[in-house]
Amino acid sequence: MLIIDCHGHYTTAPAPHQDFRAAQLAWAKNPAGPAPRPEAVSDDAIRESIEENQLKLQQTRGADMTIFSPRASAMAHHEGNERVSQDWTRACNDLIQRVVALYPRNFAGVCQLPQFPGVSIENSVAELERCVSELGFIGCNLNPDPSGGHWTSPPLTDNAWYPFYEKMVELDVPAMIHVSGSCNACFHATGAHYINADTTAFMQFIEGDLFKDFPTLRFIIPHGGGAVPYHWGRYRGLADMMKRPDLRQHVMKNVFFDTCVYHQPGIDLLARVIDAGNILFGSEMVGAVRGIDSETGFYFDDTKRYIDALVMDDADKKKIFESNARRVFPRLDAILQTQGR
Ligand SMILES: [Zn+2]
Repeated sequence: MLIIDCHGHYTTAPAPHQDFRAAQLAWAKNPAGPAPRPEAVSDDAIRESIEENQLKLQQTRGADMTIFSPRASAMAHHEGNERVSQDWTRACNDLIQRVVALYPRNFAGVCQLPQFPGVSIENSVAELERCVSELGFIGCNLNPDPSGGHWTSPPLTDNAWYPFYEKMVELDVPAMIHVSGSCNACFHATGAHYINADTTAFMQFIEGDLFKDFPTLRFIIPHGGGAVPYHWGRYRGLADMMKRPDLRQHVMKNVFFDTCVYHQPGIDLLARVIDAGNILFGSEMVGAVRGIDSETGFYFDDTKRYIDALVMDDADKKKIFESNARRVFPRLDAILQTQGR
């Protein structure tokens, strides 16, 4: 059985990449002269940043392939301006492509999008097309709130998002619903804003009829689906009160949750409430929570061990570790098949 981690970020990108970002943000404040260009990053710097971190952890924790995207908190769609977001996104995605090119059996690329508050999602279509068709990426991270915690965008079920969904369907790629940093002091980024967004997206899908219009559209809601599995009765009950169809038909043919829940009881609940066909193994490492759990002695984000410990038959575990990812990311399945896997 192949172990596919559907949720990894390049949180250790080499320093020149961060220098470029700093130059960009300085330029956005005082745009004298041409916009900064990405700094050169050597293959050796990329190797060093990966081999000591994500690759090492992948190997020691027993995963085979990580679906890899730019650092989520650094997407920071709310910073700078649209031009800055376009240039930054392109540089971040190009770096992911180089990681994949160096380690094609360990990483598959997922892109960030050049979103900006108040700017149409149509402006992100071309970058998705470039990343999938030219760089060989297999999916994207879609930010439902590019304002960074002020929620100025319409719900994900609104027609404004449709041009992007049409391209996702055409390319047959899913999106992970993933916010970025928070500029709202009320919402800690990874402790509140992320989980809020996961929960919010799910409720939007209940209220809308998006999957009637796009029956093959697929979303991964990360961080274990936010509050949704824990409050599954609330969402089923609300759907009933709102005369919405049964959630299995209405939402769960198109929506998947990852396993970025950092303790055993949380994973036990996820697996008990949500069908194994809707769960994808994920760790989000090296990411949001980096320490060691003093109660277990293991890293919080060493999530494979929680799934290994689940009382569940092997067929369902195989769905979580491998088959669901191949189904949700058909382009990953195609890559693996060309590798004889
Ligand atoms: Zn993430």
